[in-house]
Amino acid sequence: MLKKLALSTLVLTSALFASNEVNVYSHRHYDTDKQLFKMFEEKTGIKVNVVKAKASALIKRIESEGKKSPADVLITVDAAGLYAAKSKDLLQSINSNYLTTNISENLRDKDNQWFALTKRSRVVVHKIGSDVQNQLKTYEDLADPKFKGQIMVRSSNNEYNQSLLAAVIAHHGEEYALTWAKGVVANMAKEPKGNDRYQVKAVANGIGSIAIANTYYIGKMVDNKDKSQRDAVSKMKILFPKFENGGTHINVSGAGVAKYSPNKENAIKFIEFLASKDAQKLFAVGNYEYPVLKGVESSKLVSSWGEFKDDTISINTLGENNKAAVKIFDKAGWK
Ligand code: FE
Repeated sequence: MLKKLALSTLVLTSALFASNEVNVYSHRHYDTDKQLFKMFEEKTGIKVNVVKAKASALIKRIESEGKKSPADVLITVDAAGLYAAKSKDLLQSINSNYLTTNISENLRDKDNQWFALTKRSRVVVHKIGSDVQNQLKTYEDLADPKFKGQIMVRSSNNEYNQSLLAAVIAHHGEEYALTWAKGVVANMAKEPKGNDRYQVKAVANGIGSIAIANTYYIGKMVDNKDKSQRDAVSKMKILFPKFENGGTHINVSGAGVAKYSPNKENAIKFIEFLASKDAQKLFAVGNYEYPVLKGVESSKLVSSWGEFKDDTISINTLGENNKAAVKIFDKAGWK
């Protein structure tokens, strides 16, 4: 009831003060965002209203709200979420010179229905001095029986894993992807549970030797109030695997404008702001993500992890192969 009330208030407010706010449906769950939204509010006087939930729930909500949806901007933490929103005809093309000039083609939808705001890489994290660094070079290696009982990775309902498997499909086809997923399952140290940081902590504490995690979580563990996270990550090192015929797996967090956005101008301003130099710097320094704007550097900590070459497949493929990836995870018994 309360939820319903809040929503109708939102609709009403957006109708009355159309030019003074932007309604953001966001799957991002990082503190930096609060700071960014505040910066935008101070700069433009446009109030940012945020609804936070998983992309799948936000997409369902926009669908059921239909033409009356108050959503202006959809932000996801994964390319497949944006792809799904576009496929369901929930987004619209964004007419912005700034965005098309500054965000490279591989990091946006071909009809400009969404733009990446940050890049993140899904990598291997191992103990400093561990033999893993000599034994593992590629994502394909993760399925090698020599790593039996060594891998800590979260569950298959997580979009970061789904996109990684989507990339495996893009490189090798579905048949190989199933063999690969079965191989990784056979190599798991434990049944999947917890988030990316949980996997890193487990390996730091001697459970398995390979944790699979997104890069920025390592930064967030270093820069953490919780001593147990700092202690765990101080023992660890990042290894950037690559695909046999490609580079290191890249995913994006990005934004699109909702099809029935009541504050379209504000929505575009908001996304342009998130792609501006100041905002990109904060994504880099505050959340340890890779900026998408040319000329903005990664944080010192992130740079210290080393360089890698982005995978060669198109980011859109992650969305195209998502359904197949989910099915394959199921068949492989990846919990
Ligand atoms: Fe995340």
